[in-house]
Amino acid sequence: MQRLRIQLLCGLFLFFVAACVISRQPGFSVLALFFFGMAAYLMFYFYINPLAKLWRTMKRIEPQMQASSYRQFLKIVNDRVSDQEQKIAWETKRREQVESILFSMVEGVVATDSSGKISFVNPAAERIFQIEPGTALGKYPREVWRDFELVEMFHQVFVNGEPQSREFELDTPQKTYLKVEISPIRFGEYDEAQGVLAMVRDLTRLRQLETIRTDFVANVSHELRTPLTSIKGFIETLLDGGIDSRETTKRFLTIMYQETERLNRLIADLLDLSRLESGQAELNRTKVFLAPLVEEVRLTLQEQMAAKNISFSVELGPTPVWADEDQIREVLFNLIDNAIKYSTDGGSIKVREINRGDQQEFIVCDQGIGIPKKSIPRIFERFYRVDKARSREMGGTGLGLSIVKHIIERHDGKVWVESELGKGSCFHFLLPKYEGEEK
Ligand code: ADP
Repeated sequence: MQRLRIQLLCGLFLFFVAACVISRQPGFSVLALFFFGMAAYLMFYFYINPLAKLWRTMKRIEPQMQASSYRQFLKIVNDRVSDQEQKIAWETKRREQVESILFSMVEGVVATDSSGKISFVNPAAERIFQIEPGTALGKYPREVWRDFELVEMFHQVFVNGEPQSREFELDTPQKTYLKVEISPIRFGEYDEAQGVLAMVRDLTRLRQLETIRTDFVANVSHELRTPLTSIKGFIETLLDGGIDSRETTKRFLTIMYQETERLNRLIADLLDLSRLESGQAELNRTKVFLAPLVEEVRLTLQEQMAAKNISFSVELGPTPVWADEDQIREVLFNLIDNAIKYSTDGGSIKVREINRGDQQEFIVCDQGIGIPKKSIPRIFERFYRVDKARSREMGGTGLGLSIVKHIIERHDGKVWVESELGKGSCFHFLLPKYEGEEK
């Protein structure tokens, strides 16, 4: 722009010089003619010519354009340029929106260009395929993935232009299951694919849940069938003549009663767990002191404790927690009941607490059989039992600790165990402290 101004001034100056020459020496002089020529050249070359080019371009873009004056023409050009500016700003915004949508998608998105090279990968795809950010761009799929089927799928869709969808098990350290859907990208007047677009969904968690569900159904069926088979066996024996002996009948009926009790407990625990897992059981949080709850549980279980001659001590202060009283009672019942079940005769159980800032840690310790190291990570799983036979013998369902875990986690707390085989176990759990009703 600066240069244009200088050139215009030069042109005007030359006209002025030519005019001066003529006014001093009337009549045409060669010098004045030269100055006029130079000025006309400058004006034409730097002004008229570009304007004529601009006019032709504008006519091409908008054939109906009419401008009766130079000013009008410039105004039209100015309006069109402003329009274009707005359009570009709008397009840039739209592109940024689309990009941010693609970037924040949970599904992975991979696109290739017309040469088959990767032109776009969103962060989700990089995470799913475990690719270093930005490293896949500009490469062919075969340079990024070792999985032949996946690479072939990209190629087939690109060549045939037909969408494909398939599930894969990726060759990664942790098994990863993916669903990949690839479709051709077509635009403009082109019939052929101008690249492909792959949508990738991580099905690993879904698969894990499916496995957990099938395992759970299998476990429940097994747990229900065991007491039922036993009851059925005793009924058959009684029908086969066992009923004639009063003593046998009484013994069998007692076992059948115990088995039905076990079935009852199992169903109650299952219902409890499903209520907790489905989120149906509402948390009625209030200010809760644990000492009275522990006392209630002690009273309920005192017979079992007396039968094993177990001593019970409680060291709990007056610190309230923000919790659902019924659910915390259930936690304490399960932990103290286990402590009794897995204690040897004459053992001792202790309940105490530690201040952890805005949380309170509670600990239920026993001097029982302890838990083997390899079982500790699995102890809170549904139906996991270190010794199945022993747990059954004790009337256990294998669900108590998973109920405890659910309840504590719903309270934003944490539960864990420290145990040594043959020496005893300590179950710890954290609960938020009560800090006023406004919480
Ligand atoms: P169960 O009904 O079998 O007691 P839980 O879910 O309450 O089921 O406990 C799971 C398993 O954890 C038990 O079968 C037992 O092997 C082990 N366990 C739980 N509490 C203790 C404890 N205090 N001492 C030793 N082992 C325990």
